[in-house]
Amino acid sequence: MLPELQIAFQTIKHGTEIVKGLAAADKAFDQAEIKLKLNDVTGLLLDARAAVTDANDQLIERDAEIGRLREALRNKDEVTKQHDAYYTKDGEGQPMGAPYCMKCFEVDHRLVHLISSARADIKVVCPQCKNQFERRFASTIRPAGVEG
Ligand SMILES: [Zn+2]
Repeated sequence: MLPELQIAFQTIKHGTEIVKGLAAADKAFDQAEIKLKLNDVTGLLLDARAAVTDANDQLIERDAEIGRLREALRNKDEVTKQHDAYYTKDGEGQPMGAPYCMKCFEVDHRLVHLISSARADIKVVCPQCKNQFERRFASTIRPAGVEG
């Protein structure tokens, strides 16, 4: 269990015990005593709410990371490296098509197509990480016999 959820359970349990104690008491509490107890319970509920919010934030972050890792696993089997770029594999496992950024794949496990920069004769650039690559080491690979 997340530590934040343990905190939430403990504070809710403590607050519940205070309320049960009030309800089960043989004596009648005066107004000031009841107010003090209610302030205690309110504080505990606020602590519990903050702890649940923190736990929820952590779970959202974990879900996002799981999504990234799943995508990375899928991508790993679908691409192969050649020179300074990754490419989708063709039927024989050979690189084919438009190049993907080497840095984005190796560091972040994401497939991001490289695009021509303003100096299209020399560089291709990653729109995500802005790294530039020599065009000749990261060029589009077309099937044999196809011009372009
Ligand atoms: Zn990149």
